[in-house]
Amino acid sequence: MSDSNFDVIVIGAGITGLTAAKHAVQQGLSTANIEALLFGGLVININELDGKPHGSGTDLASNLMMEVGELGAANLSETVTALARDGNFLTATTDAGTHRARAVIIASGAKLKRLGIPGEAEFEHRGVSQCADCDGPMYKDEDVVVAGGGDSALQEALVLANFCKRVHLVHRGAKFRARQHLIDAVSARNNIYPVWNTVAEEVLGAQMVTKVRLRNAGDGKTTEIPCSGFFAYIGLEPNCEFAPAEIQRDANGCLMTDNSLQTAMAGVFAAGAVRAGYGGLLTHAVAEGDLAAKAVTAQFGG
Ligand code: NAP
Repeated sequence: MSDSNFDVIVIGAGITGLTAAKHAVQQGLSTANIEALLFGGLVININELDGKPHGSGTDLASNLMMEVGELGAANLSETVTALARDGNFLTATTDAGTHRARAVIIASGAKLKRLGIPGEAEFEHRGVSQCADCDGPMYKDEDVVVAGGGDSALQEALVLANFCKRVHLVHRGAKFRARQHLIDAVSARNNIYPVWNTVAEEVLGAQMVTKVRLRNAGDGKTTEIPCSGFFAYIGLEPNCEFAPAEIQRDANGCLMTDNSLQTAMAGVFAAGAVRAGYGGLLTHAVAEGDLAAKAVTAQFGG
């Protein structure tokens, strides 16, 4: 068990957390960056970033991670289980000990939601995936189903279209909510087939996925699409189970802050995908990490 004191603890080493840790340590603050899983967050699933900087998500995250380490932040591979106030300090309890700090930046990001339909969990890694870049090559010349109508679904459908024979893009609405350039790119691909007003109801197969049952939201009719892969991109849910109830949440469970990213708990800030009102683009992740570190520095009179 380890116990240590810092000026600031940043929870999460995705792009927001790494950016916050980098700026905090550059301001001369002793900084710990705690991450439960792999550093980099959701961006490491992206082989080719959409816009600038160019390159892969892994390159971006590993360069930042290296910078943060070289600047002197403590990178801790631990899971934060609770956050509480203890006099003038905040304590982050982890699976390895307790860390104290004068300020905490919650940048623990979000995970991809699941549909929760029959077969989705059962066929995980046997045809059900949520990483098109990682698993796309396994579906070369085969058919897959992608569920969702936002940026993630369209972006990942475009990745899969590079490998697959057909990508059936199943959306519960009659119009995608994704950004226009993604809608245009999808329209330009002759192997992506939108399936409107339809939801995926069950993933079926034997050893591996063989088909997905769909239900039309209008007439209730069901159809089955033969396919080898199923990818759901239906939005994100925040990773903030450890945050105390006094930090208010919005209807999606995201942490609410004021304009300086301060939560209702004194000294605790939230930034990036865990925060209510987060814009969702990589540029927002960086900007919020930067802003949170500046807000902490200002709190310390810097
Ligand atoms: P999202 O914008 O919340 O879209 C979720 C999609 O899934 C919507 O089309 C929604 O349908 C559908 N959906 C939700 N629940 C469903 C259910 N139970 N059954 C069937 N369909 C369901 O999520 P996202 O696409 O993951 O994007 C999340 C954030 O990340 C956004 O801010 C986005 O801009 C950002 N993002 C950015 C990039 C990039 O910068 N390149 C890439 C990916 C994501 P309705 O439309 O009917 O509500």
